[in-house]
Amino acid sequence: MNNLISTTLLILFLTESINCDSFENENVTECLIEGDILCPRTKSVYKAGHWVLFNSILDKSRLWPNRIVNLYVDPIFDFYEQAVISEAIDIIESKSCVRFKRLESKPVSNDRVDWINLQRLSGCYADLGRVGGEQKMSLASSCLDNGPYKAVHELMHALGFWHEHTRPDRDDYIQVVFGNIRPGYEQNFYKQKFYQTDLLGLVYDYR
Ligand SMILES: [Zn+2]
Repeated sequence: MNNLISTTLLILFLTESINCDSFENENVTECLIEGDILCPRTKSVYKAGHWVLFNSILDKSRLWPNRIVNLYVDPIFDFYEQAVISEAIDIIESKSCVRFKRLESKPVSNDRVDWINLQRLSGCYADLGRVGGEQKMSLASSCLDNGPYKAVHELMHALGFWHEHTRPDRDDYIQVVFGNIRPGYEQNFYKQKFYQTDLLGLVYDYR
C-alpha cells in the first residue's frame, strides 16, 4: 500500500497542478473544497473560511470495505473516454490491493450498496472517501482528453486521499506563493491541521 500512496501522492501533486492551471471547475456550481473535492454533507463545520473536517481520511469507516470500490460508469462516455477510465482503474489496481467492481447498472435505493456514480458532468470532482449509498463523481470530457491521470486523481479522492500540497507540514517541503494564486482560488492552497488528516507516516512526496 505504501507504494500506492507514494505514487499517488505524486500523481495528486502533478495532476492538481494541471487542474488548477486549466480551471476546469471554474463554472461548477457544486460546493467544492480545494477545487475538486465535494463538500461533506454531514459532520462538518465551516469556520473562518476553512472546512473543518473531523471525519475525513481520519475516519476509517469511510474507507471502502474489503478494498472493493463499486463503480458505475455512465454509458454516456464514448469509447475513447471509457478506455481512459479503464486505464486509470488499471493504474490504481496495478499499484495497490484496491479493486474496482464495475457495476453494469445503477443499484436501486433498497440495494443498500455504496457506490460511485461516475458521470460526465461539468468539471472534475469527487467525494472524499466512501460516503454511503450513491456518491457522485464527475469527469468532464476535458478531464479525460490528456491521459488517465486526472481520472486517477479523482478516483484517489474517492479512496480517501486529500491533496499532497495541503498537508500540514507542506511548508517544510514546498513554498506556496499566495501572490501568484489567481484571486478567489486561495482556499485551494490552505494547509490542513495535523488533527484533520492522516499522513500515514509518510513524508511529502514531490518527486
Ligand atoms: Zn483533487
